[in-house]
Amino acid sequence: MCGIIGYVGYRNTVPVLITGLERLEYRGYDSAGIACVDHQKDGLILIKEKGKLGVLKEKLGDFAIEAHIGIGHTRWATHGEPSRANAHPHVDASGKIALVHNGILENYAAVKSILQKKRVRFLSQTDTEVGVNLIGAYYRKTGKLFDAVKRAVQELHGYFAFVLFSKEDPETLIAYKRSNPLVIGLGQGENFVASDVTALIPYTRQVIYLEDEDLAVITAQKISVYSLKTKTWVKRHPTTVHWDVSQAQKQGFPHFMLKEMYEQPEVLKNILAKRTPGSGEIFFDTLDKKFQKRLREIERVSMISCGTAYHAGLVGAIALEQYTRLPCRTQVSSEFRYGDPILNTKDLVVLITQSGETADTLAALREAKAKGAATLAVVNVVGSTIAREADAVIYTHAGPEIGVASTKAYIAQLATLLLLAFYMAKIRKTISPADLKELLREFKKMPQHCARVLKDIKKFESCAEKHYTRRNFLYLGRGCNYPTALEGALKLKEISYAHAHGYAAGEMKHGPIALIDHEQPVICIAPESKTYDKMISNVQEILARDGIVIAIGTDGQKDLKKMADDFFAIPRVPEILSAILTVIPLQFLAYKIAVLNGRDVDQPRNLAKSVTVE
Ligand code: GLU
Repeated sequence: MCGIIGYVGYRNTVPVLITGLERLEYRGYDSAGIACVDHQKDGLILIKEKGKLGVLKEKLGDFAIEAHIGIGHTRWATHGEPSRANAHPHVDASGKIALVHNGILENYAAVKSILQKKRVRFLSQTDTEVGVNLIGAYYRKTGKLFDAVKRAVQELHGYFAFVLFSKEDPETLIAYKRSNPLVIGLGQGENFVASDVTALIPYTRQVIYLEDEDLAVITAQKISVYSLKTKTWVKRHPTTVHWDVSQAQKQGFPHFMLKEMYEQPEVLKNILAKRTPGSGEIFFDTLDKKFQKRLREIERVSMISCGTAYHAGLVGAIALEQYTRLPCRTQVSSEFRYGDPILNTKDLVVLITQSGETADTLAALREAKAKGAATLAVVNVVGSTIAREADAVIYTHAGPEIGVASTKAYIAQLATLLLLAFYMAKIRKTISPADLKELLREFKKMPQHCARVLKDIKKFESCAEKHYTRRNFLYLGRGCNYPTALEGALKLKEISYAHAHGYAAGEMKHGPIALIDHEQPVICIAPESKTYDKMISNVQEILARDGIVIAIGTDGQKDLKKMADDFFAIPRVPEILSAILTVIPLQFLAYKIAVLNGRDVDQPRNLAKSVTVE
């Protein structure tokens, strides 16, 4: 995953790189480093440290650097343990070229052994160092960095992005993109390049999204892009970014995750304002007439995604099947792409991803396109690779999400997928105008309901205090709240490191029931629904075995409240909309348990937000 940044221009590069890395740290935090050329001292400066950016920042305090070109990196290790030696930037054996990398060089071992035979010595275990040395080998032959990179990347396999410079030309950055994202930020007398726009918005709103196989030459005055695909110099047009910078700051909250949870009513409000302008209407600005026609003709749907987005896909599939009567399957991207899926032009494949860069989902998209399916991306980050490559895109408009554990982006995915299901039902005429109107009337109350849930949420604090030392949690749900059980368990695992398992409540008797004793908390998600009575039977089964029941229900469920050790009620809403609300107390429970355990909530160990490796 990794975050990469490069700068060339009139400012001192170090603070620019560090501000950028602060914003990219969600992509990985195993180590951080920078490389630059100090004009006065005329040499390559390389400073890198194991651990989070804070460690590097402390180290940088010892140096007074005045440099106008530099690159920076925050790492999520794939090849080689997190260590100083494996931290980026990496420098080639001649000590001239410094490079940062996001992705994996799949044939690094073969290339490494060729280079070793030529007596290149390696100082790290990374694939990256192989890349910079291959470039270095060609650079020694030709003396031209652009040509050296062009040759080397054609020999390297895998998906990756590079940003690099040579100390012999401290005016020029070279950037290369294959699948993994790179955005150039345009300035006056300065230019930037980074893994994503959040690192650029403090300086510029004018950006160029590089395309696959683009090789960019970036100086303070000029940007030239050569496409290895077309083998020509190409013109890439800038776009303006409209993101609100303040959304990428904590604004007084102790953690981004908590702040983002509290933004959820606003997110729902925005989505509804955009998508449901009038009563009984649903509007997707990005779906043109041709794609709408395709949506009317498709015969099957696949929802493909990873992690939290996979759970959103499960809810979306239930809604889509229920309202359109189209068969709809859900699969994680990494299984779909290698499963040789049966697809044709009558299939719709919906790819759901917050970042729009998830490597497995991108590969799934390409597989679906190659097989002729209609592809629709449901994405948060505007201009991301998946958003650009799919036949059509619907943006979820959640704004920047910094906390690694997704909260508001999940809610936004749920709302968007539900609206998509209703929209498809409308254009395929499987829902009556009156029913749709009623459903949307209920939907429009959701921001208000969501705000109320957040207002009540503190009541759940005592539940976290009672249980935060426990190491095992079971989550049960049915229907559209089975995915809520999975998502609740995932949230807890991610940020508290306790083991948590989400299960379909009806499956409890086929295994998990063996876990239940007086020490086992079971979170039962049982709002009003057609399977409510079945959930109550499951709760009884847990109580009969002395288990601890923590229930998420609906206002007025006196029976459930009485049975449960802890009870949290959401407002009364149609079953299909309930998943938007039931997940909120679970986000909060996970958050509180993590805080009480002293975990790093926004940057949990081993994880990163944008998963650009397979
Ligand atoms: N493969 C590189 C490393 O391990 C980059 C990893 C990444 O982009 O996640 O350092």
